[in-house]
Amino acid sequence: MGRVSGRSCIVTGAARGIGRAIGDALVAEGADVCFADINGAQAAEAAKAAKARAEGQGAKVTHAAVDVTDRAQVRDMIAHTVDAFGKLDVKFNNAGVNKPLNFLDVTEENWNFIMGVNGLGCLIGMQEAARQMIAQGTGGKIINTASIASRQGFDNVAPYCASKWAVVSLTQSGARDLAKHDITVTGFAPGVVATEMWEEVDRDLMEIGASERPGQAMEEFSSEILKGRVARPEDITGTTTFLASKDSDYMTGQIVMIDGGMTLV
Ligand code: NAD
Repeated sequence: MGRVSGRSCIVTGAARGIGRAIGDALVAEGADVCFADINGAQAAEAAKAAKARAEGQGAKVTHAAVDVTDRAQVRDMIAHTVDAFGKLDVKFNNAGVNKPLNFLDVTEENWNFIMGVNGLGCLIGMQEAARQMIAQGTGGKIINTASIASRQGFDNVAPYCASKWAVVSLTQSGARDLAKHDITVTGFAPGVVATEMWEEVDRDLMEIGASERPGQAMEEFSSEILKGRVARPEDITGTTTFLASKDSDYMTGQIVMIDGGMTLV
């Protein structure tokens, strides 16, 4: 019996990186998981691999192609999951994007792109998951991916930081509003995690002249980590599975930092 056996979960941004690791960890602990991503083909691959590992354990796995900024697609993803698993218990709003620019070069396009996925995408994901949970009358859990950028503003990534502060306030507002339906809303805040997002950020920072060689930005950015190294996605999933499990039932409105001691706030 796993920690989340029989729970029906959706993870967005699950084609790769942190989202994929969250999904894999949930499946390993007995949950039914929909791997959802704008990259539908890669989400399907992630789901297929998780399914193969779950063979014989009873956990069900599916996938969905979804743009989290499109409400109709988000509704379809939830309907698909309910069709496959019979209900929705846990919704991870994890899909996220970044595109560094020097502060004075930030454009409306850059702002709208990042705030759209990280901010509006989180809001729509919370609302539509909550509507399903309210209709079921079962309560549920909504879990949002915040960041160390939810606690401090960093240069070259201002819209990203603003969007991740938005995730914190949405978590608090949602927790207050949805408590009456027995829906908890929590979040977790990774520090520097070695994923393809960071590889892209590293390249972008070189392009805008903020760093000179590959890996430099990550080294400088993470030099203050008390644990002495950057995270792997697997460093995050003990906490995410906890947040999806009954063990966290009395927590709501909170963000858990998982940054190796990088930001002590
Ligand atoms: P990643 O880029 O490796 O993965 C993000 C996934 O989100 C991708 O598969 C991408 O296709 C998907 N996605 C992007 N836009 C989407 C959309 N509109 N609809 C649906 N899916 C979409 O990134 P990651 O490092 O795994 O990050 C996952 C989450 O963790 C993000 O919210 C990110 O901001 C956050 N985070 C990452 C770090 C880090 O250091 N990597 C640190 C703190 C927080």
